[in-house]
Amino acid sequence: MLTGTSKLVRWLSPPCCLICKEVHGGQRAICLLCEMKLPQNTLSCRQCGLPLSTKIRRPSTQGPPSERCHACYRHPPHFSQTLAPFLMQTGMRELIQLWKFRGQSQLTPLLAALFESAAPFEYTRSLPESAVLVPVPTQWRRQIRRGFDHTWLLAEALRWQLPDKYEVKPWLQNTRYQTPQHQLNRRTRIQRGADRFVVHRGVAGRHIILIDDVMTTGSTARSAAAACVKGGAESISVWCLARTPPEDKTTDALR
Ligand SMILES: [Zn+2]
Ligand SMILES: [Zn+2]
Repeated sequence: MLTGTSKLVRWLSPPCCLICKEVHGGQRAICLLCEMKLPQNTLSCRQCGLPLSTKIRRPSTQGPPSERCHACYRHPPHFSQTLAPFLMQTGMRELIQLWKFRGQSQLTPLLAALFESAAPFEYTRSLPESAVLVPVPTQWRRQIRRGFDHTWLLAEALRWQLPDKYEVKPWLQNTRYQTPQHQLNRRTRIQRGADRFVVHRGVAGRHIILIDDVMTTGSTARSAAAACVKGGAESISVWCLARTPPEDKTTDALR
């Protein structure tokens, strides 16, 4: 509910949508039309969230597809499921860049709400008792430059939608100072080793939900999940806002 002062501020300076820049009457930082047009990741690999092509889906006469991409079929990651309801494309890309690289941490609740509304209900409402949200950390120098820890804020905002028993824990530590992931090419990202994270002993026996903003090659999630397995985690899944579509369309065959 808006207060009198808030109503006056809105009347004097009506909000512009962060994506299309048009004035709108909604309560959110983006207009309803832009929200409806956000790129959804509707058909994706159940294990890594990679968008899958409908054209090469197996005919129904051959039974249901396993809904896994080639990469997960050949080299399965340690996480069993990825929930990435959006694609890193127009709309979501602008929002994430404003949030992450322009210091607009106030967008965190909006991004969490968009995730919640787009994610399948059963994913977030049927979590194991042992589930715990663990943000994938960035290197501390980058956090200082950014002014906030974006994955921690996102994890906290997502937790508000869950029952009280679920917590956010800083159980992963990023040990290396490296070139930021978004400045690297795909091959270099994949070549990064699996030992860049150390894990807290609390992960033992727990269902770990890794929280990240974007999954591109999946190498960060694979490394983080490998560290959790080393620490004795019972199972691992990944929640992220958006998945980057593959550069090579031939990689998205269903197996
Ligand atoms: Zn708009
Ligand atoms: Zn996959």
